[in-house]
Parts: sequence; structure tokens; C-alpha cells
Amino acid sequence: MKTNLLNYDLQGLTRHFADMGEKPFRAKQVMRWMHQSGAQNFDEMTDLAKSLRHKLNEQASIEIPKLMMSQESSDGTRKWLLDVGTGNGVETVFIPESDRGTLCISSQVGCALECTFCSTGRQGFNRNLTAAEIIGQLWWANKAMGVTPKNERVISNVVMMGMGEPMANFDNVVTALSIMLDDHGYGLSRRRVTVSTSGMVPQMDRLRDVMPVALAVSLHASNDEVRNQIVPLNKKYPLKELMAACQRYLVKAPRDFITFEYVMLDGINDKAQHARELIELVKDVPCKFNLIPFNPFPNSGYERSSNENIRVFRDILQQAGFVVTVRKTRGDDIDAACGQLAGQVQDKTRRQQKWQQILIGQQG
Ligand code: SF4
Repeated sequence: MKTNLLNYDLQGLTRHFADMGEKPFRAKQVMRWMHQSGAQNFDEMTDLAKSLRHKLNEQASIEIPKLMMSQESSDGTRKWLLDVGTGNGVETVFIPESDRGTLCISSQVGCALECTFCSTGRQGFNRNLTAAEIIGQLWWANKAMGVTPKNERVISNVVMMGMGEPMANFDNVVTALSIMLDDHGYGLSRRRVTVSTSGMVPQMDRLRDVMPVALAVSLHASNDEVRNQIVPLNKKYPLKELMAACQRYLVKAPRDFITFEYVMLDGINDKAQHARELIELVKDVPCKFNLIPFNPFPNSGYERSSNENIRVFRDILQQAGFVVTVRKTRGDDIDAACGQLAGQVQDKTRRQQKWQQILIGQQG
């Protein structure tokens, strides 16, 4: 079986070329061809010797997920559905703004963590994406938007906030991050690459040590009682532990704050008293808040908070000195708004099993 070189970061690629008896600089060349020039086969790599191209054709491949669907919203938001095999698809969304272009990418097919307000969580879990499938989303977005090393950078920011819990697919996510940050890959700044987690504490510590990029935490509640209901992972890593992990993360983080994501659910977590509790909860963690008006989906059982409640909530936090943004709903007409990154998941009904693995796995 051929080795898909898209699964390797520079270190892995260098090792691979050494095993082939090739010089380390070949890894850099091939990496630039794949990620900066969008090469899909080795014959395009004209500065490699013919004999090496022949060898690569025999032993290796560049397998990019296939495009199933592409959509563009009237506000410029773009969405791609990529085929990751066996009836599964993952979504990637590009959100253009005046000062930046943000790509939101997925890390798993579905998600095992079952946050009750999340449409991905409701679809079940199939499998982790490979590093090639994760970085393939950035590859596709660049390709679709005609990005080359010579023209201006269209994608300035990447957020891992699509389908899945990135920390539950740690190794593949770290490999993909390494390619994003590498000057021979996409050359993105650590400050502009954000991993979002629902609070997998041991992995937050690991990420801090191996690849400290910007961190967003899906907080969504101001106390354990509410969070246990809507983010079940909280039963394993309650708020006190999560706040301590955020503080530890900040020691090495490229930004001096954590972004707390907070979905506004009518009557559940959106009262003034919750905002005041939140202020107390995060008092030792430098942070910003991103309030996300809930995007209802069929049978979700939740309603979006009223604009008035969101305003009051925001004002309380702002008056306490916090930077607070209220997420604008973008790409509504193509279902690309937050919480609507659904993709196509063949639930293997392994959700329960996966959940057990996560819980048991972290105990050691
Ligand atoms: S909010 Fe994130 S962690 Fe929770 S179920 Fe959805 S994708 Fe998974």
C-alpha cells in the first residue's frame, strides 16, 4: 500500500525520505509542492530528479479528500463538504471579514461528547479524521480560492471549531497543526490558529507543551450543575479543574488570554445571575468572551436567547471589564453558522463505547 504523504508534517516527511535513502531537503521541497503549490502528483514536482519522482510514484501518494459539494453564501461565506469515505462527509467553512479570513475546520466525523445543544453531537460519532483529512480541508480551501505562494494570503486564521472535539484526536490534530504553522507548509502564526475544546484537561496540558496555539474553551455555563447537563464532559473535568487547566495553558500560550465560547440558550444559562456567576468563575483566568446566539435545529429542545437577554448578559460582563463579542450569524442561507456544521455522519453507534474510552483513557 502506498504511503499518503499528506499525513506527515516536516519531521515525519524528513524521516520518510531518510528511510528512502534521500536527503532531508527533499522533504522541504515536497512539502512546499504539496501545501504551497497544491500539487496532487509527483510529476508536477519539476525540481525533483526524474528517478526520485519515479520512486515516489511507486511508493507514495498524495490523497486529498474528494469534494462532494461547494456552496457560497450571499455574504461571501463559503462551505465545502468533503468526502472522507464510507458515506461520511465533513464540512469546512470559510468566513471572510474585512481584516481577516477565517477557515473553520473539522477534526472528527461526528463527535462522541454529546453536548446537548450541538447538532454534531446529536449525529453520533464515526471516527477520527486522519492528519491528511484535517490538513486536506485547508488544502481544498486554498485550492478553491485560487491561493498560491505568490498571491495574497486569503486564509489568515484557522479555527478548529468544526465537527468533533480536536483534543479527542490529539496526535492527528497536532500533526495537522504542525503543517499549518510550518514555513514550508502554510506558515500561519500560532496566534492565528485556534484549537477549541470542550475541556479535556489532560490534553490541554499536552497541547501547551507540544504545540501551544491559541485556545478557545467551550464553556457554555457558569456553574457545574448547568454544565453537567449541557456539556456532559464536565462530570469528568468540572469547572474548577478546567479553570486551573486554563491558567496552566496561559503560561505558554501565544496569546495572553483564553477565549470562552458561550452559547446563549433561552432560560438555561442566559440570566443575569449566570453572568455574575461567570465573572466570579473566571476571576483568575485572563479571558475574552464570545457569546453565541443558539442556532436552533430540529428537535434540539432549546431556543435562542432573546436579543434583550443577550444584551443584558453582555453588558454585565462588559461592565466588569471583560472584552465580549456577540457572534454574528454568518452564512445562514447555507447552514454554515455555528453549531450547524453537520457534515454527513454514519453513526457507528460507537458513541457510548468511545465515551467510555475517553473516560477510562484519562484515568491512567
Ligand atoms: S460542542 Fe463540540 S464537543 Fe460538544 S458535541 Fe459538539 S462538536 Fe462535540
